[in-house]
Amino acid sequence: MRNGPLVTEKKKKTKWWVALGVTVTILAGASLGALSAYNWSVDAAINGLFGGLINQEESPEVIDDPSVDESETDSGQVSQNPEPDLPEENTDTPSEGTVTPDTEIPAEPQEPEKTPETVTEPYYVDGVLIANKQHPLPTDFAPGEDPEARTAFNQMAEAASAEGITLVAFSTFRSYDYQVDLYNRYVDQHGQEEADRFSARPGYSEHQTGLGFDIGEAGQEEHWAEDSFKDTAGAKWLAENAHEYGFILRYPAGKEEITGYQYESWHFRYLGKELATEVYNSGLTLEEYLGI
Ligand SMILES: [Zn+2]
Repeated sequence: MRNGPLVTEKKKKTKWWVALGVTVTILAGASLGALSAYNWSVDAAINGLFGGLINQEESPEVIDDPSVDESETDSGQVSQNPEPDLPEENTDTPSEGTVTPDTEIPAEPQEPEKTPETVTEPYYVDGVLIANKQHPLPTDFAPGEDPEARTAFNQMAEAASAEGITLVAFSTFRSYDYQVDLYNRYVDQHGQEEADRFSARPGYSEHQTGLGFDIGEAGQEEHWAEDSFKDTAGAKWLAENAHEYGFILRYPAGKEEITGYQYESWHFRYLGKELATEVYNSGLTLEEYLGI
């Protein structure tokens, strides 16, 4: 009685395993095909996403409308941050467990970070020479102090002297090598993190363009390149009038996240009268105004 049903059941089991084996083989083949197609498309999607991340990290201050004020800028930055979209992007895909973007993203950078050693040309936007934390200058870029900027400064100083203010440009062009010494000294004194808030690393200083002017008042050296300068008559006069001579306050208060530097009431950038006046009237930083 037992033999009959046992044999039949064994045969059935064998058939079942053969069928299962065939099915598994087919499924495995199909999955492999699907997997490779999927991997390709996810890679492409991640590349696109990561490319977007890189671009936005490079230019977090991109703003289409130059008339937006500071608060709009802040909210613009927040909404541009694509990071919260990452998990959503991953779960949208049909398969699972095939790709781990967290490990792939750092492995596939879209652009190598620019350094003074790797860039060969200075960076211009609409004819404006840019030196900031995203756009370094080549180490051998050494134009010296810009003569047009010096002439404009002299005219500005003359106008200020009529109001009893004796302006001095105590630091203008600084070479790459000079900045190496200066930056290292600041790091020794304050530590690197603090130094990076007020001093450019070599190759990243606007002073290397020959267009950055640190301005103070003669006889008030104690306020030169100091926070206290902002309360002096000279600083107030500059803040109101410098644009008329082609200079803008380059690192205004409250814009550290955009310019990369804390408020420097003494650091002015020559842009020429027309552009300086436009930037001044816009109330924007140079980065915001140019949309970089
Ligand atoms: Zn400066």
